[in-house]
Amino acid sequence: MRSSKGNIIKAIVIGSGFGGLALAIRLQSAGIPTLVLEGRDKPGGRAYVYEDQGFTFDAGPTVITDPTALEELFALSGRNLGDYAKLLPVSPFYRLCWEDGYRFDYVNDQQELDRQIGLKSPQDVDGYRKFLDYSKAVLEEGYVKLGHVPFPDFRSMIRVAPQLIKLESYRSVYGIVSRFISDPHLRQAFSFHSLLVGGNPFETSSIYALIHALERQWGVFFPQGGTGALVRGMIRLFEELGGELRLNATVDEICVEQGRVSAVRLQSGERIPCLFTASNADVVHTYDKLLRNHSPATRKADSLKKKRFSMSLFVIYFGLRGVRQDLQHHTVLFGPRYRELLKDIFHGAELPEDFSLYLHAPTVTDPSLAPPGHSAYYVLAPVPHLGHADIDWAVEGPRYRDRILAYLEQHTIPDLRRDLVTSRIFTPSDFRNELNAHVGSAFSLEPVLWQSAYFRTHNKDQQIPGLYFVGAGTHPGAGVPGVVGSAKATARIILDDFPARRAA
Ligand SMILES: Cc1cc2nc3c(=O)[nH]c(=O)nc-3n(C[C@H](O)[C@H](O)[C@H](O)COP(=O)(O)OP(=O)(O)OC[C@H]3O[C@@H](n4cnc5c(N)ncnc54)[C@H](O)[C@@H]3O)c2cc1C
Repeated sequence: MRSSKGNIIKAIVIGSGFGGLALAIRLQSAGIPTLVLEGRDKPGGRAYVYEDQGFTFDAGPTVITDPTALEELFALSGRNLGDYAKLLPVSPFYRLCWEDGYRFDYVNDQQELDRQIGLKSPQDVDGYRKFLDYSKAVLEEGYVKLGHVPFPDFRSMIRVAPQLIKLESYRSVYGIVSRFISDPHLRQAFSFHSLLVGGNPFETSSIYALIHALERQWGVFFPQGGTGALVRGMIRLFEELGGELRLNATVDEICVEQGRVSAVRLQSGERIPCLFTASNADVVHTYDKLLRNHSPATRKADSLKKKRFSMSLFVIYFGLRGVRQDLQHHTVLFGPRYRELLKDIFHGAELPEDFSLYLHAPTVTDPSLAPPGHSAYYVLAPVPHLGHADIDWAVEGPRYRDRILAYLEQHTIPDLRRDLVTSRIFTPSDFRNELNAHVGSAFSLEPVLWQSAYFRTHNKDQQIPGLYFVGAGTHPGAGVPGVVGSAKATARIILDDFPARRAA
């Protein structure tokens, strides 16, 4: 089995998102010759990069947490992450702003947190400590112990059930935060995190409250040169290990012969044989389109389509003349509604009138991402996915962009439109059309308890030998640490099935 470059190929990873790349590194480190096939012209998946008039815009992940998960990938082959990408600490982690003028700088300094919480709501200082203890306990159980462990059968789920019950995972993130914290603003400040992995704080399992402790434990980072530089570092490592990445190589079919995966076929018609394949592409796309000629896969796709998918996002990337000294790297702008807005986003059939926004200002940390005297940004609004709000984004997108930019100009960046040099938008339709994301979901399956761990797409298909999954649709789920953990879980199963030279 040789690639067009003449390399021997045993494994094919479909998609070059963080999960796909992390798995490819693990396989290649273990001595399994691996080919990554990416449909787009650049790698990274949701971490794609746009370059425009001297501005560099990271398309997706900007809050890099748990660097140890990334360091481990480089250590597998005796390398140091620091030689491939430099992670810069970001402080405050986020600035949180409300329309009534209240502002909270979420930092990693206990005294400063206590000071801010005490000023707002003295009785919540103690409550916050208790919440942090809870969050640390779920971090240990749900992430450190189980975040990279596959759940291949129901027994594996039963085994962890006592811990899940003890940690009250049947409660929502907001429910658990509210038990410890009484102030409405602070409840929002400590519950919005599940949105970062596509979960509604009012419906997502309290297990996802671990994100708070995860940030406190290891910090929040931004790669020098942008998240794209981290992706490039991972690819450099993969290629140094002998792996091969092909761009503009859209997979059209996973070939199953004599009951097992034997090859993949590209849109160009080229057929590439392999011992096995791991799909980093959307799970519905994989079963529904890539395995369309295989009836058990079609049935699996039909059952997946009945599940709940996370919300989509509307993103505006924009560059400005001038540098805004008063901004922080990460700002969350809470709109007038919280619970009700989230209900509209996760269940509504229309685009809500109001929004909450996340503003990314990377040039605060790394000015090289814009021409001298300029600054780069993106702003995103969570919006309903196309499955329940079939919005014509070709029409609505430009209007929505104008509304959001006007709002930002009024609340955060005066004269924004006067200083605008460039802008582009990415809508739920783009998530569907460019990334093959089912219903344009930004984070794949919604992280609710009954779609987590064993109940998420398994890292190994039960019926088709040679078919594996990695990425946001598998355990433990979306987010960079999540998909890097999923790669570890998938590699573990693959290396049990195909023992290789070294451990990965
Ligand atoms: C705007 C945005 C902001 C985010 N911010 C953060 C953040 O700050 N921190 C954080 O931790 N997480 C963040 N996330 C979540 C995180 O980016 C994702 O969960 C994670 O990157 C998904 O990685 P993945 O491995 O699942 O692959 P993906 O990134 O989904 O990549 C899948 C790849 O498969 C390719 N593909 C699909 N079909 C085919 C095919 N048929 N043939 C070949 N290739 C194919 C796609 O082109 C794509 O490159 C954000 C997400 C978004 C959208």
